[in-house]
Amino acid sequence: MTRNAIEISGLTKTYQGGKQALKGVDLNVPEGSVFGLLGPNGAGKSTLINILAGLVIKTEGRVKIWGWDQDQNPRQSRAAIGVMPQELNLDPFFAPRDALEVQAGLYGVPKSQRRSDEILAMVGLADKAEAYARTLSGGMRRRLLLAKALVHNPQVLVLDEPTAGVDIELRQMLWENVRRLNKEHGLTVILTTHYLEEAEQMCDEIAIINHGELIAQDSTQNLLGRLDAKTMVIEPDHDPQSLPTRDGIEVTRRPDGTIALSYNSSKTSAEEVLDCVHAAGIRIRDVRTEQADLEDVFLSLTRDAAA
Ligand code: ADP
Ligand code: MG
Repeated sequence: MTRNAIEISGLTKTYQGGKQALKGVDLNVPEGSVFGLLGPNGAGKSTLINILAGLVIKTEGRVKIWGWDQDQNPRQSRAAIGVMPQELNLDPFFAPRDALEVQAGLYGVPKSQRRSDEILAMVGLADKAEAYARTLSGGMRRRLLLAKALVHNPQVLVLDEPTAGVDIELRQMLWENVRRLNKEHGLTVILTTHYLEEAEQMCDEIAIINHGELIAQDSTQNLLGRLDAKTMVIEPDHDPQSLPTRDGIEVTRRPDGTIALSYNSSKTSAEEVLDCVHAAGIRIRDVRTEQADLEDVFLSLTRDAAA
């Protein structure tokens, strides 16, 4: 039986002022997985992460981290998790090594068990151990945040939008670090992102959250299988008499005169779509395809949920 690194049930959060950011979330994160929490801006991802981190107080519900109930065993549950926050909230006065030492002190890690230099080397900051914080680039600061999340040797690592707005090189580096921590050190990793591609590449399992509610949770493979909506956009070379029709294809005429054919690539092939266009007597001047993006995925999932 797989054990869960995190168990969340009935989790709600209503902020002062009445904003309901989480509306009863149940979520289990299997031990040893790289788990993606996906959702558009404002979905409630950071709220959930910050509750795990002990930075936001939940309104209702239960949270267990590494088997420790957050309310009954706050110290143990906090020790089991390391969080790399979304905001770059670094103290400008500490050089990287000092920042890690201070963090280790906060978590009560004895001097003999501290691994500041090892961690700095792991995130590629060994040569910056004593640099002035203000001389660090944005990318270095982000890596330092990752390093800080690791000082107390947590079993669960949480990354809130680790690659939002970072360049490709740093993104690759963060991904490699996360993979290595997961594979070699057995860390359970939870990351939030609004990039579908990132979730696809990194995560074994994905949960999708929207408006404070979980709308899907599945293995990445299964989920992507469900997210195969495609749209072919045809520019006809004359005004068509009639539009194509076929089961499994949704046809709409767009204001610019093009015809959009939406279909699921697992059920309908591009060939079949073109066939039905030809069958309607339409000659094609130009054609392009549009991939479903996360927005479409949400729409389709919320539609499914409503049906
Ligand atoms: P995400 O990380 O998915 O973008 P957040 O968890 O940051 O979403 O926000 C979820 C909702 O809660 C949003 O509508 C946001 O405006 C609101 N919210 C977040 N933090 C606070 C706060 N401190 N006070 C009031 N509302 C907040
Ligand atoms: Mg956020």
